[in-house]
Amino acid sequence: MILKMLTVGAYEANCYIVGSEKDRSGMVIDPGDEAGRIISEIKNLNLQIKTIVLTHGHADHTGAAMKVKKETGAEIAVHEDDISLINNEIISAILGFSRDKRCIPDKLLNDGDVVSIGGLNFNVIHTPGHSSGGICLSGEGVLFSGDTLFENSIGRTDLPGSDGDYEIIIKSIKDKLMTLDDKITVYPGHGPKTTIGAERRGNPFITSA
Ligand SMILES: [Zn+2]
Ligand SMILES: [Zn+2]
Repeated sequence: MILKMLTVGAYEANCYIVGSEKDRSGMVIDPGDEAGRIISEIKNLNLQIKTIVLTHGHADHTGAAMKVKKETGAEIAVHEDDISLINNEIISAILGFSRDKRCIPDKLLNDGDVVSIGGLNFNVIHTPGHSSGGICLSGEGVLFSGDTLFENSIGRTDLPGSDGDYEIIIKSIKDKLMTLDDKITVYPGHGPKTTIGAERRGNPFITSA
């Protein structure tokens, strides 16, 4: 598996480019900003991007999706419960994104769906709490955790228009992420990578819950 992390934009969101060595197909997770950098990295890696997966609808994760789509022809996929959030003008304005960055998804994702690229399979796990349509992608020994789970932290639940809920995010993490294997590497939407085991043992939001 080819895996490249780019930290983009003022909110330092992590964008991941994932590719198959077998057929050079790939996906981009959370192209939040800096489309030019993301596109040149896709070219460097010589990948054909099939899907752009948005872990949730906040503009710091979606801001460059339309430009990456235009360049690659890939489909934009997001959970249906974040459709209203994806172009919410109030939250976008708060995050400093303008209307010309509007994002139109092509495909809706639901819990239990599988995103496949070149023989690599990732399960869609619906993890509401940071926003109502937040998802994680799990497969190939890794978890892309969006803004649900961070190293030693969890996503905020107080962002306007997002239906954030502390009890719901804790339930999502405990029921759907802490059931995964300790060895799985977690690639979050912000900050450094971690593992399920490290978070199970050391994340204060999980150990105290
Ligand atoms: Zn977010
Ligand atoms: Zn974020």
